[in-house]
Amino acid sequence: MNRITGGMWADLQRLNRTAMIPHAVQWMTRLGWVANFDRAAAGERYDHRGREFADSEIYKIIEAISLEHLRSGPSELDAVADDLAGRVAAAQEPDGYLHTLFGRPWQRPRYSDFTWGHELYCAGHLLQAAVAHHRAYRSTTLLDVAVRLADHICVMFGPHGLNRVCGHAEIELALVALYRETRERRYLDQAALFVDRRGHGTLPLIEFGRAFAQDDLPVRKATVLRGHAVRALYLAAGAVDVAVETGDDELLAALKTQWQNTVDRRTYVTGGMGSHHMDEAFGEDFVLPADRSYCETCAGVASIMFSRRLLLATGESRYADQIERTLYNILATAPGDDGRSFFYANTLHQRHPGGDVPVNDDGVSIRGGAGERQPWYEVSCCAPNLARTLAGLDDYVATADNEGIRIHQYMSSTLEATIGGSPFTLDVTTDYPTTGTITVTVTQAPAVPATITLRQPEWSPSTPGRTRVWSPGDTFTVDLDLRERVTRPDHRVDAVRGCVAVQRGPDVLALESVDLPAGWALADAVLVSADPAVLRHQETGEEATVPLIPYRRWARRGPSAMRVWIPLDQTVAPPR
Ligand SMILES: [Zn+2]
Repeated sequence: MNRITGGMWADLQRLNRTAMIPHAVQWMTRLGWVANFDRAAAGERYDHRGREFADSEIYKIIEAISLEHLRSGPSELDAVADDLAGRVAAAQEPDGYLHTLFGRPWQRPRYSDFTWGHELYCAGHLLQAAVAHHRAYRSTTLLDVAVRLADHICVMFGPHGLNRVCGHAEIELALVALYRETRERRYLDQAALFVDRRGHGTLPLIEFGRAFAQDDLPVRKATVLRGHAVRALYLAAGAVDVAVETGDDELLAALKTQWQNTVDRRTYVTGGMGSHHMDEAFGEDFVLPADRSYCETCAGVASIMFSRRLLLATGESRYADQIERTLYNILATAPGDDGRSFFYANTLHQRHPGGDVPVNDDGVSIRGGAGERQPWYEVSCCAPNLARTLAGLDDYVATADNEGIRIHQYMSSTLEATIGGSPFTLDVTTDYPTTGTITVTVTQAPAVPATITLRQPEWSPSTPGRTRVWSPGDTFTVDLDLRERVTRPDHRVDAVRGCVAVQRGPDVLALESVDLPAGWALADAVLVSADPAVLRHQETGEEATVPLIPYRRWARRGPSAMRVWIPLDQTVAPPR
C-alpha cells in the first residue's frame, strides 16, 4: 500500500477530489449524458445526448470516485457514485446488454457499427468502474451489472459467436480486470480472443486505413504502435495483461518491442504520443512536428497504463522513466489550476496566443487545437480519464516484493510492504522536482534483511539499492542531479532540426512569450546559451536572459505563445 502524502501530486489529488470530479459530474449531468440512463431505464423514447461514447464518461467518473474513496476515505462524492451506479444498473437490458445509444426500437440495432459505435468500449469502462466500485464499497450493485454484461459479451463474441472486434480497444484490459476480481476464467479467455482476433481485417475499411483501429496487423506481429494513439495504447495495455495472465511470452516480447520502438521513434520529448490531428493518430517514425503535435491527454493516460503494465511485468526502470516523463509533462499539464479546465491536446509549440479556439465558459469546445484550457469539450474523454488516473496515482509510487520495496516515483509518501510476515514501512519526504533531495526513513522493519531500491532516472547518476537489516528510525538521503540539460533532437526529426529542448529533472522546459522582452515575437527568439537561458532577437541582435518554465506551467498566466524546441543561434555555432 502506498500513499502520497505531500507535494504537487498530493495537491493535484486534492484538486481532483474538490474540483475536477465535481466539475465533470456537473457537466455530464448538464449535457444530459447521465439522463440517457434514466430515460433508457424508463423505457420511453428519447433523443440520446452526447456522442457514442458518452456512457463511458459516466463510468470513468464512477471509477474515479471509487478510487478516490479507496485513497482518501469517505466523502460527499460517495453519494454521487452510489447514485450514478444505481442509475446505470437500472438501464441494463434483461440479457445483460448495456448501451444507451443502440438497440431500442427507434435506435440503430446493437452491434451494427463496430467502427464508431463504441459499444464494447463503453462496456469495458463499465467493467473497470465496477471493479473499482466493488473494491471501494464492497457493494455488488455495479459488479453484478458488469458480470451480466461480460457474460452477454462472452456469448455474443465467444469462440462460436460474432468474429468481430470493437473499433476502439478497451474491452480487452477491462475483461482481464474483471477476471482478476472474480477469478472467472472465461473473461480472461474472451480478452485473449479479442486480442488475437484484432489485426485480421474484420473491421470495415475506413478513410484512415486499417491501422487506425490496429486491424491491419495481429498484435503479436506488430513492431511499433500505429493508428489512433489511445486505441493503440489501450490495446497494448490489454495485451500485456493477457500475456502476463496466460504466460504468453511471445506476446509480451512483441509488446516490449512495440513499446521501445514507439518511445524511440514516435513519442515527443514530453512523453506525448500522436502527431496526427486528423485521426488522433501516431505518425510514421520521426514524424514529430512540434507545432502540429496532438498529444491527446488520454494518450498520456493510456501510455502510462501501458508502461505501468510492462514495469510490473519486467521490473525494468525504463518504463518508470517514461511514466515519470508523461506524468510531469502531460498529466500535470492538462488541468488548469482551478481544476475546471483542461487541455485536450498538448502541443509543444503554440505559435499564437490562445490559438484559434476561443475559451467557451458556457458551452462545449472543439477538442483539438485549443491554446488555452477549456472547461469542457464535445468529446470529453480526457477530463474523466485524468480524474481516475490521479485518484489511483498512489499505486504508481512503489511496488513491493518478497525482498523489499522498489520506489519508482519520487513523491512524498508512505510505503508499506510485508517482508517475512512482518511489516516494512517507509516514509519518503521530498519536494521533488523543486530539488532532487529524497529522504527515506524506515518506520517499521522486519527482523530479516530487506531491500530498498530507488529508480535511477535515465538522466541522473546511479542510486543503488540498499539491502540490510533495518531498524525503525534508520534514514538515508539521495540527491538527484537536477541541473538543466540540453537535448538535441534525433537527426531524423526534420521538423525540429536546429533546435534544442532544455530539461530539468523530470520537467521539460518551455519558452513562453509572456517572459520575452517587450517587442519580441516568439518566432524571432533564438537560443544563445541554456543555463541560464540567453536569447537573441534575430532582427535586432539584442540579447536577454529569459526564464524557461516547466512545460506543465504554460498558459497559466493568460494566453501566450510557447515553444519547447528552441532554435539555436546559428551565428554562435555556424554549421560546418
Ligand atoms: Zn481524451
